[in-house]
Amino acid sequence: MTDLTALTGQALAEVAACEALAALEEARVRWLGKKGALTEQLKSLGALPAHERPAAGARINEAKAKLQAAIEARRTALERMQLEHELAERRIDVTLPGRGEEAGGLHPLTRARQRIETLFRRAGFEVASGPEIEDDFHNFEALNIPPDHPARALHDTFYFPDGRLLRTHTSPVQIRSLLTHGAPIALIAPGRVYRRDSDMTHAPMFHQLEGLVVDENVSFAHMKAALHGFLQAFFERDLAMRLRPSYFPFTEPSAEVDMSCVFCNGKGCRTCKQTGWLEISGCGMVHPNVLEASGVDPERYTGYAFGAGIDRLAMLRYGVNDLRLFFENDLRFLRQFQAAFA
Ligand SMILES: [Zn+2]
Repeated sequence: MTDLTALTGQALAEVAACEALAALEEARVRWLGKKGALTEQLKSLGALPAHERPAAGARINEAKAKLQAAIEARRTALERMQLEHELAERRIDVTLPGRGEEAGGLHPLTRARQRIETLFRRAGFEVASGPEIEDDFHNFEALNIPPDHPARALHDTFYFPDGRLLRTHTSPVQIRSLLTHGAPIALIAPGRVYRRDSDMTHAPMFHQLEGLVVDENVSFAHMKAALHGFLQAFFERDLAMRLRPSYFPFTEPSAEVDMSCVFCNGKGCRTCKQTGWLEISGCGMVHPNVLEASGVDPERYTGYAFGAGIDRLAMLRYGVNDLRLFFENDLRFLRQFQAAFA
């Protein structure tokens, strides 16, 4: 019988030196496999005298158990090293700059609205807002549109079963603001409005800009100056502006506002249908009935109000010829506005 102690020592040293799981498995087969060196020792027991066999067998089994334990311990250690190595390789360096990052941009309608707000704030206007779900009083009645008024037919209103409605214009913000703050007041109210209307140039949801100034001695001339100043600032150029008599239930007198075409400077083109003018806003002096419904004394105060389409202002400023492009969210269209425009 070979020196079992020396043999075991050699096996343990080999196992301890294994640097990879595959090498460890090879060592296990070499020592403990069917033809392994220690297994061979058990086979050689038969050559020993009968009385020596139990003691020799016990020593060999003890050596095998010891080696097996060493192999298991080494396997656990190697597996842990391998896992740590893999984790280290996959670690993310959070201090590295990002790859393939793309800066987002504001929607052109948002840009237009923010620009409008900035310009009016500079002129001393507050920016107000109100609910998109309105009641009949704020959307119609207080604006001098009683239940049987023909103007209601033009509004194509979305109604809820309980009689409330999606506001058809931003004008209810006038009523709410006056009822809350009273006069004097100077505000704009940009926001979404809804009408049951959908074709090439109309969307069921669109954006409106409301303006309201109420104070003592406010006149039509103040309104004309404010609107003209705004349009020239918004389009960053000299523009001609004209007022045409019109009718709105909530203003008296009322007017339509035209400005000289921004594409042809008034010479006539397809956009302005060769007239040189673009319709841009409706306006007028706040009707005394509206002031009264809002708790403001029409004997003491006068005011003007105007409304304009934010979508239309944006189309004209950015040269967009189809309203629907704003709502389709095609990134090829929207990306053009990321940095090029203010
Ligand atoms: Zn034109």
